[in-house]
Amino acid sequence: MHETRSVEETLALAGGLGATLLAGDVVWLHGDLGAGKTHFVKGLARGLGIEEDAVRSPTFTFVDLHRGRAGGLALTHVDLYRIGAASELRELGLQDLPGPQAVAAVEWAERLPPGVLEATHVVRIEDLGGDGRRISVERR
Ligand code: ADP
Ligand code: MG
Repeated sequence: MHETRSVEETLALAGGLGATLLAGDVVWLHGDLGAGKTHFVKGLARGLGIEEDAVRSPTFTFVDLHRGRAGGLALTHVDLYRIGAASELRELGLQDLPGPQAVAAVEWAERLPPGVLEATHVVRIEDLGGDGRRISVERR
């Protein structure tokens, strides 16, 4: 269990995890709106050597692919916050992700269909008020 007191501390914590990820790893992120899931994914990008500013809340796309540096892993960022019908989920082709030489980070992972993008790591973020966040990282 970790507590961060700023965005930067969350980025650093997530960066540490990102640096350890291997091809095929899938990080699930749970937490209320505004908890800091997207910022955690920015930190994962940092740890993977990917430009963290490119990671945003994919508002209209549900899946963003961030290419890795040469020889590095790509980051597939999935955000299911606005997902509607099951048919919409099927059209995303999630069963083919994260893809070769890539890892995936999934916001609102509780909305995934069963058996798709199974977690290797589960991150839970809780807003403690102000800039405080309680963050747990569980290895599956
Ligand atoms: P989510 O993806 O869970 O909806 P975001 O990452 O988009 O959340 O937003 C988190 C918000 O909380 C941002 O406005 C960010 O600046 C703010 N914030 C404040 N303190 C922290 C912290 N310690 N860690 C992460 N985000 C924080
Ligand atoms: Mg988000």
